[in-house]
Amino acid sequence: MSPAKTFGTFFLPGPTEVREEIMAAMLQPMIPHRGPQFEKLFERLQQGLRPLFKTERPVYVSSSSATGMMEAAIRAAPPGRILCLVNGAFSERFAHIASTCARDVDRYEVAWGQVHAIPQLEERLAMRKYVAITVVHSETSTGALNNVRAISDCAHRHGVLCLIDSVSGLGGAELRFDEWNLDYVLTGSQKALAIPPGLSFAVASASFVGRANGTSGRGGYFDLVEMDAYARRNQTPSTPALTLFYAMEEQAKSIAAEGLEARWARHTAMAARTQDWLAKISDETGKKLANIAPLGSQSPTVSTIRLPSDLPAETFTAEVGKRGIVVGNGYGKLKSATFRIGHMGDHTVETIERCLAACSSVLRS
Ligand SMILES: *Cc1c(COP(=O)(O)O)cnc(C)c1O
Repeated sequence: MSPAKTFGTFFLPGPTEVREEIMAAMLQPMIPHRGPQFEKLFERLQQGLRPLFKTERPVYVSSSSATGMMEAAIRAAPPGRILCLVNGAFSERFAHIASTCARDVDRYEVAWGQVHAIPQLEERLAMRKYVAITVVHSETSTGALNNVRAISDCAHRHGVLCLIDSVSGLGGAELRFDEWNLDYVLTGSQKALAIPPGLSFAVASASFVGRANGTSGRGGYFDLVEMDAYARRNQTPSTPALTLFYAMEEQAKSIAAEGLEARWARHTAMAARTQDWLAKISDETGKKLANIAPLGSQSPTVSTIRLPSDLPAETFTAEVGKRGIVVGNGYGKLKSATFRIGHMGDHTVETIERCLAACSSVLRS
């Protein structure tokens, strides 16, 4: 194995950098997935995953990327119209999935970088009958953090389910499934949880799964009712990506050792440091750089930073790359205008310093 000192060079907002210890855990041998050995593994994983969602509910583990669990949510939702809160590429994807699953969809769209306002949501929910809303917690394309607790409460005041994508939120941004009385939260393995891509996780409330049981057209592979039934037996409906289960088991131990609250605080500190750097480097170079999400609504896990118009992201990130550091281009329609720093997963204020130093060096030259 190469030495662990190589950690701290890769700052994409997904996939995120994976520690050597996690990579090593994946070298464990195959086991039968119908049998006590796997059931024990699944149970240990549950013990590691439930605290991450702050729930007593089972955590469904899907051997798919996170988009699969977005589709599972839509397919499980009772018949009726869905209101999709859109403020970036991933929230747009949620709306797109709802449409392609033949749902009637309305969009409550705000500018990329912005978050959704409760009074406006209240108005929309009062105007028309919906069964569910979709919302993205940490919009990875823009770095905006929605107040999913307030949004969920608002939905509930109108008797509407709230389906939450917390793919780049969970494990880095505060979320409390049980205490906040949430209906559905999904996440992926390759963002703030910092294991390789290929697994997704979701928790559904008992009442959401109960209602899903009566909903037809849930499909086969992404059927929450089936996932729920199998999870109760510590199994998965189809062959699990065992290697990634090993990785998650290892990572859950590290997260428990650090403490989830401490992990949230570490992410908040990384975001604050990035914001502080941004102000200083803008002053120093006279270049107009800005986080596109307003203060107070910035994700602790990802910053999306607008570049001066004469510096396309592709040029900037290539120059940063020459200094041994990977940062992300913008996403979707912001691809060239912004760059993104993923300060999530196992990164720390110390590793972020190296990233910021490389970015500074490019901006000064
Ligand atoms: C990465 C991401 C997704 C999609 O995840 P995949 O694992 O690529 O399917 C969805 N939503 C958000 C907010 C994301 O960051």
